Amino acid sequence: MASQTGAIVQQSLNALMGDSTFLPNLQEQAREQAFLSLAAILSTPNKVHKAFLRITIDNGNVVRIPAYRIQHNDTLGPYKGGIRFHESVSEDEVTNLAALMTLKNALHEVPFGGGKGGVVINPRTYSAKELYLICKKYVQYFSDVLGPDKDIPAPDMGTGEREMDWMMAEYKSIHPGQPYLGSFTGKSVINGGSLGRREATGKGVYFAFRYMLHDFLKEQRSWLAGSTNPFVQTALAHADRPLSIAVQGFGNVGSVAALEAYKCTYLHNKVVAVSDRNVTLYNPDGLSVPALLEYAALHQGDLPATEAALVALDIKAQILGREEVLYLDVDVLILAALEEQIHKDNVERVKAPIIVEGANAPVTGEADVVLTAKGTIIIPDILANAGGVIVSYFEWLQGRETQFFSEDQVYKMLYDKMQKTLNSILPAYFGDPLPLRQNCYNHAVMKLSTMLYRQGKLY
Ligand code: GLU
Repeated sequence: MASQTGAIVQQSLNALMGDSTFLPNLQEQAREQAFLSLAAILSTPNKVHKAFLRITIDNGNVVRIPAYRIQHNDTLGPYKGGIRFHESVSEDEVTNLAALMTLKNALHEVPFGGGKGGVVINPRTYSAKELYLICKKYVQYFSDVLGPDKDIPAPDMGTGEREMDWMMAEYKSIHPGQPYLGSFTGKSVINGGSLGRREATGKGVYFAFRYMLHDFLKEQRSWLAGSTNPFVQTALAHADRPLSIAVQGFGNVGSVAALEAYKCTYLHNKVVAVSDRNVTLYNPDGLSVPALLEYAALHQGDLPATEAALVALDIKAQILGREEVLYLDVDVLILAALEEQIHKDNVERVKAPIIVEGANAPVTGEADVVLTAKGTIIIPDILANAGGVIVSYFEWLQGRETQFFSEDQVYKMLYDKMQKTLNSILPAYFGDPLPLRQNCYNHAVMKLSTMLYRQGKLY
């Protein structure tokens, strides 16, 4: 587990250990022993599966591609988490992401454990046929440890419904006669996927931000008014006025979050910047997100990156370097690209007082400390980007019953679930100046610890 996740989990455990009302039957030596067990369980994955997928690429050469499935913890239910295709995938990275899934599911009361998979490739450099073979081989190599009641993968960076359809089909061939709809989530709707799954993460990201900074604050204003908590002051300074928003990443999460912000006209928020792997587009008067989405859909997901392309679209924007999105003078920065985007070497340049983590782990532990000390509100990954796994859970349920929900039902259930979590976290956050990330971890760790204790696992 990366040091940041591990360190925050340990702080949660320290707080729980010192709270005599938590598991009061555990005392003295037994208490110490139980918390040592908890630390050991949560800081290491249950199982690490690694394989070298052997495929014949289009030029006839045979290659071996490293691939992982890491099963972190299954206290709450079957392991659950995406499979990413990216060239920087490593065992450490996937292990940390699997641990984040354990915490995310516990935080939102999704009845799954935490897992994650990865394949070390840049999918843009492989043909569709090669990617198909990689997906098939991934399922063949890991088929014994996957399944609707064992471990349920989903899309992550570099994968989507096409890959999940291929993988589910392979799982079905390997396990004839067994239930297969719940073996993978994030499938296409025609193959048993859920309406709204593709948009779920981005919609949830915008919802978490909107609910916290608008709906919740509006209700709670009276008791927060005199607070000296720096996060309350940051929040109140940004409540009830239009906000400028910059979004890093224009993929499945960033583009949907940007569109939600654009469409949320009653708040008059303005999307002033978006970025992708090539450029940042910036216009302080606001960008037309629908026009950019249309362009990206026709250009393999890329944003227009030349003056000529912008003129043709009738979009006015400055073209800046791709990293510049991080340093703009905006109210809200949504990070929906890769991990470790804000780190110790660039954190001083970040101006946004509100940061929303659409990606997993986009702020390093060192940067987190610097931002938190400034009173920056960081809505952390496990809180903000859980829309994907929440709707994956609905997809899994629908697959079990072969009864499908309407898109409106899915979004209503998604927002209800996220709102319930936010309502259980925000009063403590605004009442006590602990970073939101720590509050969320405390909540998740408390749930996991209680269950492990009641299951007799803390010896
Ligand atoms: N990959 C997504 C995440 O990091 C979704 C996982 C899932 O749907 O299982 O949360």
